[in-house]
Amino acid sequence: MLAFTHVAAGCASSLLVAEYLHAGPVQTILIVAGGIIGSHLPDIDHPKSAFGSRVLPLSLPISAVFGHRGITHSLIAVAGMSWLIWWSLHYVHWQQGFTVPLVVGIATGYLSHLAGDFFTNSGVPLLWPSRRRFVSPLKFCTGDMREYLLAFGMYGWSLMECLRMLK
Ligand SMILES: [Zn+2]
Repeated sequence: MLAFTHVAAGCASSLLVAEYLHAGPVQTILIVAGGIIGSHLPDIDHPKSAFGSRVLPLSLPISAVFGHRGITHSLIAVAGMSWLIWWSLHYVHWQQGFTVPLVVGIATGYLSHLAGDFFTNSGVPLLWPSRRRFVSPLKFCTGDMREYLLAFGMYGWSLMECLRMLK
């Protein structure tokens, strides 16, 4: 999946979370900023990805040890990010301060990335270290027309939601 689409998914999913949590304007901005950051994080295992190429001292060793779409795209990562959201919302008074909305946004964006990769032909190795990849029955090739339609749909919906929130 293209970075462009991952950002769209990070925006849309984090906006949904912000609405679900009845977040105020500042928290919503932090959740969405976190969502955009988190939507890039799983590809830290790919030195040529949009994010990995900017953090080569991290992405090169992670890629060498785990390979692309390894542990960062597994159920271990899903469980870790889900736990992070749950823990943040249950044990920290999140409406005061900036850290929890950002962390919740990052974890949400991270999960949206894995969901997005699940819809590509390459799939995700949910049971890593098993190499078996899981692919959605509704799948598409990275960069094909359906991916662009999906991305523009999510950007459009996110924009409409932002405009609605400003009213
Ligand atoms: Zn990925």
